[in-house]
Amino acid sequence: MSTMPPGSVERPLRVAVIGSGPAGFYAARHLLDAKELRAEVDVFDRLPTPYGLVRGGVAPDHQKIKSVVKVYEKTAAMQGFRFFGHVALGRDVSLAELQARYDQIVLAVGNESDRRLGIPGEGMVRCTPASVFVGWYNGHPDYAHFRFDLSVKRVAVVGNGNVAIDVARILATDPEILARTDIAPHALEALRASRVEEVIVLGRRGPVQAAFTPSELKEIAELPGTDALVDPLDLALDPHEEEALALASDRARRNLELLRACAARERSASRALRLRFLVSPVEVLADEDGGVGALNLARNRLVQGEDGSLSPKPSGEHETLPVGMVLTAVGYRGRAIEGVPFDERRGLIPNQDGRVLRSAGGPVVPNLYVVGWARSGPQGLIGSHRAASGEVVQAMLADLAAGSVPPSAARRPAEIEAWLTERAVPYVSFADWQVLDATEVARGQRREAPREKLTDVAEMLALVGKGPAER
Ligand code: NAP
Repeated sequence: MSTMPPGSVERPLRVAVIGSGPAGFYAARHLLDAKELRAEVDVFDRLPTPYGLVRGGVAPDHQKIKSVVKVYEKTAAMQGFRFFGHVALGRDVSLAELQARYDQIVLAVGNESDRRLGIPGEGMVRCTPASVFVGWYNGHPDYAHFRFDLSVKRVAVVGNGNVAIDVARILATDPEILARTDIAPHALEALRASRVEEVIVLGRRGPVQAAFTPSELKEIAELPGTDALVDPLDLALDPHEEEALALASDRARRNLELLRACAARERSASRALRLRFLVSPVEVLADEDGGVGALNLARNRLVQGEDGSLSPKPSGEHETLPVGMVLTAVGYRGRAIEGVPFDERRGLIPNQDGRVLRSAGGPVVPNLYVVGWARSGPQGLIGSHRAASGEVVQAMLADLAAGSVPPSAARRPAEIEAWLTERAVPYVSFADWQVLDATEVARGQRREAPREKLTDVAEMLALVGKGPAER
């Protein structure tokens, strides 16, 4: 068989993308759209379902954001695209095995772990990372069997980003509103029985430094049946903060306006969502049952650093906040995958402009790339990853043009299916996913919801004829 440089119709460039969230789908699309070459892209995901955080992270009451999957469906329909769901890198296939079968590999594995507070009592019953709660209400199979005790009256949410706002909002929303979304059935049932009356969101810095966005804040300010409340004293700005506000983005100014409107409100609804600032939990205190009973909070003041940034420093004052549950939403981080370089300190895959490095500051691993949160850490809204993945694809094409992929005989796409079948890896194709998708949509009709998610991997596999009995 003759050898040819990859990228032609006779000898397409063969790429594996690991992870089918937004960044992975955008990378696939850029490759399939590239005018200068012919690419074939296989997208792998460890779950039988595609779309990563759009399915498992975006809140159920944000259906409009989820409509972005229509773009990914178009990508999936393009010639040269294939989906291999339920195939995990590090579990079912190794990086070396993929490197032997593909010309280039793109890691789009996201951030599957969380930052921790690192305070005593953090691992206590009813103190949980927000990502677990998010995965639970979104029906992510890893968290579907988790139980949240919503018989408590007060919940603290630590962090001031959009994830903190998401989880606080889900706890404070009328479950009958959520019933018409794709919230997981087990979460809907638990929220219907919830006795939570107050959710308190704790920011370690001031309102001007909050990471959440005005549209998310406006949503909680207008939540039916719940009062969003702020203590006016928390909005009194010191001279450093006034200075920061003068230089701040429109986002911070708009946030402050909305918070001031909340501060002017009296409590009237049965549920409250309180936003507090300049407090840091220093210890989770146990109740008599051994679960969360309270938080020991240190009050903070802001101290200006040499670069002008404002950091929280303990003022010396403390308070005890009685709460029955704590969700920590202080940022996500990546999880190391067997055989894949990982920067433990930064919680991401070490890279230079998307080219994976053997270790932070080390040499480049040829033909291995990273996109999305695994590349940059947890930042940027979904749409921003379109351009970011495009930059990495440009680097891939530049490397290809520079001869990074040696000429070789064409690789036959059917070899991948044969290889996985021989290994007894029951993969889910995009056509299989469409069967699951149709099942979910049909089940959703029972409660006038866009879909009712399947949350059990064994059930998903059985529905597409890949269950144990069919193997
Ligand atoms: P984030 O925006 O980075 O917010 C993390 C928050 O945690 C910050 O307020 C940070 O405070 C705080 N924090 C960090 N360490 C802390 C500690 N030790 N003690 C107390 N607080 C601490 O992260 P995120 O909320 O996880 O969101 C991740 C990304 O997803 C963001 O880009 C976000 O906008 C996006 N997202 C968007 C939506 C939406 O559009 N609806 C929904 C969810 C997520 P400091 O600022 O003081 O560090």
